[in-house]
Amino acid sequence: MFMYTPSHVGITGNERADELAKSAALDAALPETNYGLSTDWKSIIKSAVINTWQSQWDLNSSHLHRITPSVNQDLHLPPDRRSQVILSRLRLGHTPLTHSYLLNQEDRPLCIFCQQSDLTITHILRDCPALINSRKACQVNCGNYSMLFEDWFKLKSFLRSIKLINNL
Ligand SMILES: [Zn+2]
Repeated sequence: MFMYTPSHVGITGNERADELAKSAALDAALPETNYGLSTDWKSIIKSAVINTWQSQWDLNSSHLHRITPSVNQDLHLPPDRRSQVILSRLRLGHTPLTHSYLLNQEDRPLCIFCQQSDLTITHILRDCPALINSRKACQVNCGNYSMLFEDWFKLKSFLRSIKLINNL
């Protein structure tokens, strides 16, 4: 099973390894080349790259594409690492709660709240009828699914209220 976690920023040993790697790269660096690209050209090239990337991204129909339709969209990350890990997993739709069945070679589990649908992140956050009141109490707006991930504190409050925050 593959679980995404954000980069190793904040981990002392890894940051030291990065510093040493950057230092070694600078020592061995080739002379900087200036091709004389003007700011206008850089802007045109950047725009072309983003347009190509967006075209490729739009061929995707994943959970992540639904909540991040634009490749040029700023992500608002929560301040602490644990929250960043949870939010990243929610955005990808892959969490220990919803995908540990793969590792255990079991069938996909049903929702633990309504027992009527597969246990998925979308079902828990947006669709489960048994969680309507919890969503309302935490003011979680699931009308626009991608906006749900923009307010981490409401989302975290909701996940705490349904006692799933430690299973993600
Ligand atoms: Zn349900």
